[in-house]
Amino acid sequence: MSTEAVVTFDSLDPATGDRVGSHAVHTAEQVLDTVARAREAAVWWAGLSFAERAERLDRWRGIIARRLPQLAELSHAETGKPTSDAQLEIVMALDHLAWAAKNARKVLGRKRVSTGLMAVDLGASVEYLPLGVIGVIGPWNFPVFTPMGSIAYALAAGNAVVFKPSEYTPGVGAWLVDAFAQVVPEHPVLQLVTGLGETGAALCRSGVDKIAFTGSTATAKKVLSACADTLTPVLVEAGGKDVLLVDADADLEAAAAAALWGGFSNAGQACIGTERVYVHERVYDDFVAILTAQAENLRAGSDPEAAIGPMTMPTQPRVVAEHIADAVRRGARAVVGGPSGVGDRVVQPTILVDVPEDAPAMVEETFGPTLAVNRVRDMDAAIELTNASRYGLGSAVFAKRRGQELARRIRSGMTGVNLVYLFAAVPALPFGGVGDSGFGRIHGPDGLKEFTYAKSVAYRRLPAVLELTSFARTAAVDKLMATLTVLRHG
Ligand code: NDP
Repeated sequence: MSTEAVVTFDSLDPATGDRVGSHAVHTAEQVLDTVARAREAAVWWAGLSFAERAERLDRWRGIIARRLPQLAELSHAETGKPTSDAQLEIVMALDHLAWAAKNARKVLGRKRVSTGLMAVDLGASVEYLPLGVIGVIGPWNFPVFTPMGSIAYALAAGNAVVFKPSEYTPGVGAWLVDAFAQVVPEHPVLQLVTGLGETGAALCRSGVDKIAFTGSTATAKKVLSACADTLTPVLVEAGGKDVLLVDADADLEAAAAAALWGGFSNAGQACIGTERVYVHERVYDDFVAILTAQAENLRAGSDPEAAIGPMTMPTQPRVVAEHIADAVRRGARAVVGGPSGVGDRVVQPTILVDVPEDAPAMVEETFGPTLAVNRVRDMDAAIELTNASRYGLGSAVFAKRRGQELARRIRSGMTGVNLVYLFAAVPALPFGGVGDSGFGRIHGPDGLKEFTYAKSVAYRRLPAVLELTSFARTAAVDKLMATLTVLRHG
């Protein structure tokens, strides 16, 4: 850094309000310095072979795995989520790190491609080269898993990364970057900048080669507009209003258990959290009864026994309270929880039924432990309501006969058939949304390619059969070309 950071901010434990750590508010100038150093590091990192990068990424993975309890404890302290959930999130992130390191060469390495009839005398190859420096702007809800979906894949593809974690989880970000520096001490290939929204905005304007953003749709729009000046491409992983569909032949116990996990785990603060449930009218009453019974012992709290932790962001309970109160005002019923369950920081799980389709609880991201459960005449109606959302991130279908068919008809990036969430745990599956949920993909081969550009090379293999790109081209060649064209395309 060219100047010492003088301003700091604290990350706080949502359960107690205690200070977890203090971090610098990096200025725009400091962000620029960091990106300049990343540029030099990127040249060195891109010069390593896939195997050399994989070896270092594997050692980083080893450190994270061995110190898993420490990182899980820190994530618990900064987000409020139960430590066991923090651990699960880290374990899933490690699988992605392993996959990205192992598969980068296969997905991105140079491959020959066939050249076609008009170019039989040529050879051709394509490979995917790193973009350079990637800016990753991360959220607080899954402070390891979500940014790692970009960081691991960007690094495996040969880029340097500048990571700006959320102001609520800077300690987790710093921990990951410090651990990486232990296995790659030579150059600052992965660096951290901390601060508030302004620091993220400075990263967008810093001239990095791509921004990978996870957060709200509203902030994504600001990021896109800041990136427009420098024509910096952006990957947007924004929010969702995920559905879970329950068909008449579904296993209702399994569907209810999945709806509870999808809606309430991480206190509902998940981009792929279940927020809407559409149930076939033939099984609706049974499903609601089972769901309600299963929810009976679920409790949110700040104590270690609580399955659901406090809300990470102090402002979020107000949004959740508004959605619940508005739905009830419009005639919905709370069969579990309700307006009185929303505290200052701890929000008890709420299940609403008969919620009007135009209520915020049905159309806006609630990002809290709520489920809106509505009856549908059949699955066609359920698909229509599902696809009416401007969001399209994840989704789930519970059905025996028509699961796969319904899954394909949902306009969303990912769908679980008889499961929730687990598509995110399969490293080979791309993850991302459509519509207001964003664009671009993390994870899988697409997630590796997202941080590269295609480099095509055509080369002369044999003397030219037809001299096409020459002013010396003859009338005979033109005639032959016309004949061949009719034979091939006519
Ligand atoms: P934001 O979208 O505001 O923040 C996400 C990230 O962007 C944070 O790192 C934030 O930094 C950063 N940021 C904020 N402003 C800018 C900016 N102008 N330019 C660049 N980066 C910026 O989400 P919030 O954390 O405020 O949460 C609000 C709502 O967003 C939630 O209620 C939820 O609905 C949704 N959300 C969705 C997530 C998802 O996984 N899809 C994740 C998080 C939120 P900082 O934290 O320092 O402000």
